[in-house]
Amino acid sequence: MTIVRVLVAFVMTGFLCTAAAAPRPAQDVEADQPTLSLEDLDALLEEDEVEESVTSLNSSEVTDIIGIVVVLSFAFFSFAKKSVALKYISFAVSIAYLGFYKSNLVSIVNIFAILQGNLPGFRHSIPWYLLIGFTVVSTVLWGRLYCGRICAFGALTQALDRILPSRLRIDPPAWLDRRLAYLKYGILGGVLVYFLSTGDFLIYRYVEPFWMFTLNGNTAMWTLVTILLIATVFVRNLYCRYLCSVGAALGLISNFTVFRIKRWGECQTCKICEKACEWGAIDGPRISVAECVRCDDCERIYHDQKKCVHWIVLKKKPRAQTAASS
Ligand code: SF4
Ligand code: SF4
Repeated sequence: MTIVRVLVAFVMTGFLCTAAAAPRPAQDVEADQPTLSLEDLDALLEEDEVEESVTSLNSSEVTDIIGIVVVLSFAFFSFAKKSVALKYISFAVSIAYLGFYKSNLVSIVNIFAILQGNLPGFRHSIPWYLLIGFTVVSTVLWGRLYCGRICAFGALTQALDRILPSRLRIDPPAWLDRRLAYLKYGILGGVLVYFLSTGDFLIYRYVEPFWMFTLNGNTAMWTLVTILLIATVFVRNLYCRYLCSVGAALGLISNFTVFRIKRWGECQTCKICEKACEWGAIDGPRISVAECVRCDDCERIYHDQKKCVHWIVLKKKPRAQTAASS
C-alpha cells in the first residue's frame, strides 16, 4: 500500500507542478469594458494558457517530446506485435536515443526526487514526465515492460546476450538464481535508507551504471562498469536480474500488474517456457511477475501450436478418441 501512496503522491505532485508552472491570468480588468460571464472568462483564460504553454516550448523541446513519443510508441508496438525483429530494433533505438543521445533513463535518483517531492517543472521536462508516466502505467498494466525494451542499459545487456555462444554461458542453478534475485531488493532498501538518512544522492554512482551513457566517469568507475559488462556477457542480464535497484522498485510495482501472462494447465509439468526464460521468472506453472520483463519469449512459445505442449495434446486428443471408439 506504501507504493500505491507513493504513486498517488507522484501523480498529484505532477499535476501540482503543472498548475504551478501554468501562467497566471492578469488581475486588472478595465472598468469600462463589457462585462464577461464567468464562463466566457474561463474560456479566454484557458485559450491563453494553452497558447502560452505551447509557444513557450522552444523547437528543441518540441523535438525532444516528439522523440520520446516515437521511442515509447515504437517500443509498445514491438511489444504488442510480439516480434523478435521489432524487439531488437527497439533495443537499438533505446541504446542510441535514450542512452547515448539523451541519457534519459529511469534512475534511483528519480525515486529520491519522488520521495522528496522534488520534481522538475512540468513544462520544460515533458519528455521526463512522459518516460516516468509510461514506465509506471505500463508496469501497472503489463509488468516490467520498461526493463524488457525501453531501458537503454537493459537493452544493451540483452543485445550483448547474442555475442557469446550459449555453451560458454554460465547459468546459475535455479536455487542460487532465486536467492540472488533478492539482492536487488536489499540494494534498493539499503540505498533508500542511506539517502533518507544522509541526503547524499551521489550514492547512485555506486549502485547503477547508467552514467556510462554520458561517457563521463573516472578510471575506477570505468573499470567497474567494464567488469560488469564482461560479466554480463557470461551471465545473462546479470545486473538487471540481481543488482538493479530501479528494476527492484519496478518489480515491487509489478505485484499490482493487471494483465498477466496466461498459463495452460500443461505448464504444471512442461518445462519448455521455463528453460526459454532468460530471466529466471518461470517456476513450473508460476511466473514471478516481479522478475518477468515481458520479453515475449514464453508468450511466443505459448501461442506456437507446433512447440507448445498444450496445443500438441489438443491436436492428438481427437485422434486418440477416434481410435478408442473404433
Ligand atoms: S533492471 Fe535496471 S538496468 Fe535492467 S532494464 Fe530494468 S531498470 Fe534497466
Ligand atoms: S520468458 Fe516469459 S516469464 Fe520470462 S521474462 Fe520473458 S515474458 Fe517474462
